[in-house]
Amino acid sequence: MMTTWRHLPRYLVTRRGASSSACAGAVNFVPTSRSIEPSDLERIQAFVSRARCLFVITGAGLSTESGIPDYRSEGVGLYARTDRRPMQHVEFLRSAKSRQRYWARNYMGWPQFSSHKPNSAHLALRDWEAQGKVHWLVTQNVDALHSKAGHQRLTELHGCTHRVVCLGCGVLTPREDLQRRFTEMNPGWAAEAGSVAPDGDVFLEDEQVLHFRVPSCQSCGGILKPEVTFFGDSVNRSTVQFVHERLDESDAVLVAGSSLQVYSAYRFLLAASEKLIPVAILNIGATRADHMAELRVSARCGEVLPAIQPC
Ligand SMILES: [Zn+2]
Repeated sequence: MMTTWRHLPRYLVTRRGASSSACAGAVNFVPTSRSIEPSDLERIQAFVSRARCLFVITGAGLSTESGIPDYRSEGVGLYARTDRRPMQHVEFLRSAKSRQRYWARNYMGWPQFSSHKPNSAHLALRDWEAQGKVHWLVTQNVDALHSKAGHQRLTELHGCTHRVVCLGCGVLTPREDLQRRFTEMNPGWAAEAGSVAPDGDVFLEDEQVLHFRVPSCQSCGGILKPEVTFFGDSVNRSTVQFVHERLDESDAVLVAGSSLQVYSAYRFLLAASEKLIPVAILNIGATRADHMAELRVSARCGEVLPAIQPC
């Protein structure tokens, strides 16, 4: 049985002009950016200082500095580097084969993906919360890094890969438990599956996937799915309503590390704009809501957020 994994393009490892945040020897998933201008830092500091109830929206750009690639960044995002595309909701529901392939890869990538740690941007936002600056934080990320950092006032808009939901009875279980069940049901399988790429990606031959056994819910026998909103699915209505209420209580919006291309988060910018709540955007590259922002800063979250005094 032959197993291969996709090698990363050489330019990614030796890419010139990469941001200085890359650790030695690590693959850099942070797009190139210049250091923040002192005048921009002053302006974003003034914006945060003015806010009494800050509403924060974060996206993949916050986690690239923890070694998790995003989808869309030029040159370094998954879309640019690989032919890998996110799982579609409908495909997961209707095809046992797709679920088998998904879980086999997920099983292989999990030890690495689950070991990522919050970076200085997550920790800064956690401190802002502790000091009463952040009223609510909404993240599009499913990597649990805000909760690992200790953030409490948090909505994970697209769910979290660290939880598994049963599509039959709705019971939630920790992803770690499922990993143990995978290992028990597939003895020796992982050893044959070979290596995992630095971003947790793993390419498996069809024949190998066929031998991977996927457990079902221990309560009802239902299909297990990560508690994550796949592409093509929509965010739970009550979650959206809850977040709108937190936004209504806020007096400023800060977007950090998101291009806001996905409507599920963009809708809160539309609402903020309608209510004339001031918006600041910190992101490398253009965003869908640039025209709504009174302040727009293109720099790394890990450089800027820890440099701001919340009070
Ligand atoms: Zn169940």
